Amino acid sequence: MNSIDPSLTYAGQGNTAWNNYLKQLEKVSPFLGELSERLDMLRRPKRSLIVDIPVIMDDGTVRHFEGYRVQHNVTRGPGKGGVRFHPDVNLDEVMALSAWMTIKCAALNLPFGGAKGGVRVDPSQLSRRELERLTRRYTAEINLIIGPQKDIPAPDVGTNGQIMAWMMDTFSMNAGSTVTGVVTGKPVHLGGSLGRVKATGRGVYVSGREVAAEIGLELKDARICVQGFGNVGSEAALLFHDNGSKVVCVQDHSATLYQEHGIDVPKLIEYMQANKKIQGYAFNDEISNDAFWKVSAEIFIPAALEGVIDVDVAQTIDAKLILEGANGPTDSDADEILTERNITVVPDVICNAGGVTVSYFEWVQDFASYFWTEEEIYQRMDAIMVKAVHDVWHKSKQAGSTMRTAAYIVACERILNARKERGIYPG
Ligand code: GLU
Repeated sequence: MNSIDPSLTYAGQGNTAWNNYLKQLEKVSPFLGELSERLDMLRRPKRSLIVDIPVIMDDGTVRHFEGYRVQHNVTRGPGKGGVRFHPDVNLDEVMALSAWMTIKCAALNLPFGGAKGGVRVDPSQLSRRELERLTRRYTAEINLIIGPQKDIPAPDVGTNGQIMAWMMDTFSMNAGSTVTGVVTGKPVHLGGSLGRVKATGRGVYVSGREVAAEIGLELKDARICVQGFGNVGSEAALLFHDNGSKVVCVQDHSATLYQEHGIDVPKLIEYMQANKKIQGYAFNDEISNDAFWKVSAEIFIPAALEGVIDVDVAQTIDAKLILEGANGPTDSDADEILTERNITVVPDVICNAGGVTVSYFEWVQDFASYFWTEEEIYQRMDAIMVKAVHDVWHKSKQAGSTMRTAAYIVACERILNARKERGIYPG
């Protein structure tokens, strides 16, 4: 499958996220010409750090958590990517997420490499003080390898603006001065950018709109199913709803809600914000979790975790378009079935790139200490997203490939050409 010694940590074995990434990467090789000889660089992370995080709990005991920061590639600029707090986080997953950031930043032509971090923890089980101590100690442990010119963390699943504020403060305390540009996704009054919270969901909508037009899918009254109702899923659902589509099914960790005539998305968002879950919004309309993928709809938006569209789902899903709001929701084998079934997938590395695009704006604004209006942010973000979607769409037509492979072609050409020009140290 790939030319890595299978005994190596990063070789990728079994049905894991990293292995899924490796399989996706292999598909690009035939399209790269002489650059394919350099592809080996992307089959391994540049630098992986595993840290022990001791935390004094509120009851005075000490608990240890395992944390990671992986810099997959920094050829085109500093590492960029979120930090995930989740009980299933492991090195394999963080490696895959960091690699997808490499591809994402290059496909969008942002001047970053790819990185990702994580801590294996269920943040909902910690008090606010415990969460703060964990975040600060994690930041102190990865302090050496992050920085505004080195590697810039951001929010991901289980983290938010408050956690970014603690990370920025911890880094700044160690540096002896306030360094706002070390993380993005910060609260707006601490050097954060307007529009960052909604950016990922907005990008899902914008990329979906553009590709729907290419495949002749009318968005008015199009039926939409959304998995995940956090920042990404709820904002994407809202924008489709506001633009005339019918959001018929929403699933989160608590329940699956189906309403044939279309869910009142603003009301559901209000309910979710008050209750932290969608369960109970309309008990009579709750269906079983397994039924989610069996709903008949034009568009599915997986906006939660990876690996949810497997071969079984791919064989039966009744959809025209899949918008990957989550990172890595589709297995590589499932991807091939979707292609055979003529279901278009807008891949994560394009579809959910609105977040990192506005993170890029935040980093630029922090350096300049000059902040843009929300209107300017969305205008610039939409322009970058629309261009990237069309570049990848045309590349897919030219190469006769899926949009995912086309995004990898665009990204790998940029990264490997940059490596060719830089050369290999010490030469
Ligand atoms: N965690 C987000 C992602 O997967 C955002 C990363 C960032 O803003 O750096 O794209």
